[in-house]
Amino acid sequence: MAKRTFRGGVHPYDGKALSKDKPIRDILPKGELVYPLSQHIGAPAKPIVEKGQRVLAGEKIAEAGGFVSSPVYASVSGTVKCIEPRRTVTGDNINCIVIENDMQYEAAPPIHTMNFKDMKREDIIHIIGEAGIVGMGGAGFPTQVKLSPKEPDKIDYVIVNCAECEPYLTSDYRKMLEEPDKLVRGLQIMLSLFPGAQGILAVEDNKPDCIEKLRKQTENLDHIFVRALMTKYPQGSERQLIYAVTGRTINSTMLPADQGCVVNNVDTVIAICNAIDEGQPLMHRIVTVTGDAVREPQNFRVKTGTLYSELIEEAGGFVTQPEKIISGGPMMGFAIFDIDVPVTKTSSALLCMTKDEVSMWEVGPCINCGRCVEVCPSRLIPTRLAEHADHFNTEGFLELNGMECVECGSCTYICPAKRQLAQSIKSMRKTILANRRKG
Ligand code: SF4
Ligand code: SF4
Repeated sequence: MAKRTFRGGVHPYDGKALSKDKPIRDILPKGELVYPLSQHIGAPAKPIVEKGQRVLAGEKIAEAGGFVSSPVYASVSGTVKCIEPRRTVTGDNINCIVIENDMQYEAAPPIHTMNFKDMKREDIIHIIGEAGIVGMGGAGFPTQVKLSPKEPDKIDYVIVNCAECEPYLTSDYRKMLEEPDKLVRGLQIMLSLFPGAQGILAVEDNKPDCIEKLRKQTENLDHIFVRALMTKYPQGSERQLIYAVTGRTINSTMLPADQGCVVNNVDTVIAICNAIDEGQPLMHRIVTVTGDAVREPQNFRVKTGTLYSELIEEAGGFVTQPEKIISGGPMMGFAIFDIDVPVTKTSSALLCMTKDEVSMWEVGPCINCGRCVEVCPSRLIPTRLAEHADHFNTEGFLELNGMECVECGSCTYICPAKRQLAQSIKSMRKTILANRRKG
């Protein structure tokens, strides 16, 4: 049964007014394009081009490195300059294919020319994998794997995550307004894989214009419904979204498919439509460039591989030098120090703030107010988890179900003592997961 929301959560300042009314603008890259071979969860892609080779826009330059992996496509025509480690948005040096743009934008043939009506289930899934589509909301999980559950007949809901609950982000909002037809078409393609399922477009109720537009777009479609969800962060977190839409619960050891659900975000669903209907691989995405340090906040359609610094330039540069730059939103994004890093399949926003408020906080002792417990959507005790994390007490951390944290940051946001709870918990989870992989 639908709940419209979940337990816990917070209501941060949303900052969306800065860019929500800015239509998506196409921008063309000026300099070289940099394509990391790891833009997804799973094995890195393997290069299939060499230094000096000419490539076309939409040509595959790296193939999937395993079952859970994804190929990479050139987004411009030009020459392969080198394949070498380059700094990426996480600060890590990752092997990248660098292409010198010849500014011709000469296109490769489409990745397939089949008619949708003639496609079998396996063809659709294969093309989605071949197109290099991954979860573009940030997770980067290869979409063809997500669309291949063991028991497709047991999928009851195909949910499009239209919540966009992260403050400041407006790229999904603009896509819902500007391309509702492609969004619904992408959902219909996914539904063709799960004949027993209904499609749900789950939108927070602070976007009434999107709800209206999508309802109009789907009024004659039997199996597709638009659900308005209560506006609350982290409504777009996968587990919270599934609960709000279906009343079903999942934990860290389960997949959404274990509870009969498949969830994809707006950009991913539109990428599916582009791949199946037009034979177009994933080679661009929408990025919101915003924050009070940006002269003209905007929503850009960007070719993957373009450097963040070029997006800043297109947005009129900085009003003043920002104290903090975040890739993604303020709750789940991460601070970056170098803007000469490439846009990847999972880049959603570039947030530039004149003040680094977090660094000005004076961290105090816990006053046992219990607010972090109240807001935790995973029903955890963040204050005690953070304590275990700070003392590297794995056993205590696991006993308190620390692995169920969805890293939403609500506990840090609400804490009056300004304790960096989520940061401690997140780094402990990362360590435990890395140790498990090694084991
Ligand atoms: S403990 Fe994790 S899930 Fe709970 S509020 Fe903090 S970051 Fe969110
Ligand atoms: S919100 Fe902060 S001060 Fe309150 S119990 Fe949690 S950690 Fe302690």
